[in-house]
Amino acid sequence: MAYASDLALRLTPYTAGEQPKGRAFIKLNTNENPYPPTPRIHAAITEAAEALRLYPDMEATALREAIAQVNGLKPEQVFCGNGSDEVLAFAFAAFFAGKALYAPDVTYSFYPVYANLFGVDYRPVPLREDFTVDVAGLCQGGPIVLANPNAPTGLLLPLAEVRRLAEHARTAGQVLLVDEAYAAFAPENALPLLHEFDNVLIVRTFSKSHALAGLRVGYALGSPELIDTLRRIRDSFNSYPVDRLAQAAARAAILDTDYTAQATRLVIAALDKCRRRLTDAGIPVLKSATNFLFVQADALDAASVQQALRAEGILVRHFAGPRLSPWLRVTVGTAEDMDTVTAALLRLIPRR
Ligand code: PMP
Repeated sequence: MAYASDLALRLTPYTAGEQPKGRAFIKLNTNENPYPPTPRIHAAITEAAEALRLYPDMEATALREAIAQVNGLKPEQVFCGNGSDEVLAFAFAAFFAGKALYAPDVTYSFYPVYANLFGVDYRPVPLREDFTVDVAGLCQGGPIVLANPNAPTGLLLPLAEVRRLAEHARTAGQVLLVDEAYAAFAPENALPLLHEFDNVLIVRTFSKSHALAGLRVGYALGSPELIDTLRRIRDSFNSYPVDRLAQAAARAAILDTDYTAQATRLVIAALDKCRRRLTDAGIPVLKSATNFLFVQADALDAASVQQALRAEGILVRHFAGPRLSPWLRVTVGTAEDMDTVTAALLRLIPRR
């Protein structure tokens, strides 16, 4: 590491879930969609490929117009990036650098990594015993970041509570960032707040609901002022974060609302069935508003359950740490995948 800068040495990089090569697994470890993306992306990509000689539209105009249309917003309220991870990183730089940022202690583990990268004073606020968000605890005068539904718990904070966070942040002159990576699977989301608040930024992704994790497109929704600030960061880093093929495919995908709704219904049905079977057997599973289940595998050693599943060809995610280590996060796959993993979990998890 002799050549590394102080900045590079200071970082603690994020650890992503395993992307296996070779052997075919039932892959339930990174919250991907089990169904393919809409077939409409193929024609869109082929057409866009004709123009790959040219740089893409840096404002992703047609994609932003489509996202705006689907969400009842104006295009100037939409920002697109290379996966929602990049949009989140830009938002940390744009709104949190140099400030004290409040976040639940159990949440998306990329947030402390970005905080470290951009000089944010990251202040984790413990979730309550039942894994729900301590709203008052987050309201301490700084900006707030909230994954809603949360990851890896899957729990949804009701809109009325998110509104309280938005009000508090506005009073403090700060941004509330709501990471809605999984909101397509939830009964409600923070979109209505954008008509009331100029300090709320919603970040979403095509990776889960639109089955396009491999494409890398995410976006932010918010007031034109917030979107402009994100643009300042983007243009200080990479003016063309979303390539031509990605803009075209993401546009085709977001406009095919029927297709997404159908795939989402299948995922939710498989999730409900798996959760019911596990809870009926006495295995605790948190109520999920996402495309994954948080399953209490073994109070002593959930990691060994994860390894046993892996040996059977099933990948799920395990997180170290005192509160999370008894749990496994199981992405919802097809109905068939879920029958397989449910049977394996019923066999491997000791009953109380
Ligand atoms: N936010 C949350 C809460 C996530 O779980 C993920 C997926 N790892 C992301 C953002 C990033 O998704 P992507 O970069 O694929 O858009």
